[in-house]
Amino acid sequence: MEQLDRESARRLFEVYRKQRDGIRKRPELASLCLICGSVHVAAKSGAPGMLACCNCGFSWYRYDCPACGRTVDGRDPHNPGCRVCGWRICTCGACSCPVES
Ligand SMILES: [Zn+2]
Ligand SMILES: [Zn+2]
Ligand SMILES: [Zn+2]
Repeated sequence: MEQLDRESARRLFEVYRKQRDGIRKRPELASLCLICGSVHVAAKSGAPGMLACCNCGFSWYRYDCPACGRTVDGRDPHNPGCRVCGWRICTCGACSCPVES
């Protein structure tokens, strides 16, 4: 995971806490909490595919889409939650539901 310096973290926080479209496309945002601005983010234990902020406790989905490899981030409006499996839906349309053939 990329480590953010204070200044870039602050700038990204200012932009993306309001404008959430595109969060999935910025690798640096994996290590930035958009609730409190902390860069102390770690994989959430016991919750595959989730990250959690060590400062405020907020957690969200962020993982690579198993179908196309693009990043899926639960904070991005283009990655809405799936009502069936509870994971996030990638821009390619895949989530963790079994693919119908
Ligand atoms: Zn936080
Ligand atoms: Zn995908
Ligand atoms: Zn699903």
